[in-house]
Amino acid sequence: MPELPEVETIRRDLAESIVGSEIVAVKILFLKTAKNDAAFFVKALINHKIEDIGRTGKLLSLKIKQKKGETENLYLLVHLKMTGQLILTSKSKKIVGGHSLNEHSFESSVGGELPNRHTRAIIEFKNGDKLFFNDLRKFGYLKIVDELEFKKIIVAGYGPEPLSPNLSVKYLTAKLKNKKKNIKAFLLDQKMIAGLGNIYVDESLFLAKIKPMRLAGSLKLIEIKSLYLAINKIIKKAIANRGTTFNNYVDSSGRKGNFSRLLSVYGRGKLPCLKCKKALVKTKLAGRGTHYCDYCQK
Ligand SMILES: [Zn+2]
Repeated sequence: MPELPEVETIRRDLAESIVGSEIVAVKILFLKTAKNDAAFFVKALINHKIEDIGRTGKLLSLKIKQKKGETENLYLLVHLKMTGQLILTSKSKKIVGGHSLNEHSFESSVGGELPNRHTRAIIEFKNGDKLFFNDLRKFGYLKIVDELEFKKIIVAGYGPEPLSPNLSVKYLTAKLKNKKKNIKAFLLDQKMIAGLGNIYVDESLFLAKIKPMRLAGSLKLIEIKSLYLAINKIIKKAIANRGTTFNNYVDSSGRKGNFSRLLSVYGRGKLPCLKCKKALVKTKLAGRGTHYCDYCQK
């Protein structure tokens, strides 16, 4: 699943290309992907421009520019969940962000020539650009909301995110107090911290030298400080490297997500720890594959 750094990378790429562009056609190929009445969904987007692209945790929000006489701000929310992809094709470049089906080429990564059997929706722009929403397992969604609903969704589902002043040692200390679940499950909870997923939780806990199965409430203040610093450091570095899982950006500069070469534990189960050289452990925790070093992490 794409996490904060991957979604932020897609946000930046798309913002460069489609902010200010006018939508001329909207096609929903799989009805359940668009979580509104289909006619409303199309009407809200067509003949409108994208004003801005925001992100909260792993949720993208495309602000739709109001037309004359319209008084309500509307947003197109995009959540990629497990296997969602956003793919923009234009005359000069192809951008894809999210899940990767295959890393060999742009075409194989998106499941073949577009649109294909994984394409759930297509948004076409006046300049000829096309934005495809592909989703193999169909957990991802598109939803148009007004300002009030948007705020409700954020308040109910998203805690503070890394690199924001709202995520602080003080905040973590308060939230961790007496928590009976393990620290891995705590960090994966989007209501506690928005944007972290399996990769960056494992990496942050390794850097902070904390075992993922530790009870969240058992962390000492010095460990909470280490964890706070580790999360911010890892996320910052991952964004700078355009994420890990997959961000194949095919344009003249050929930029690609390359944090994977910087991973310390994730995906390295049984390989030697980069610090102590002993074999890393891969286990299952909070329902997820979990990687850690039994010696370096306490
Ligand atoms: Zn180690």
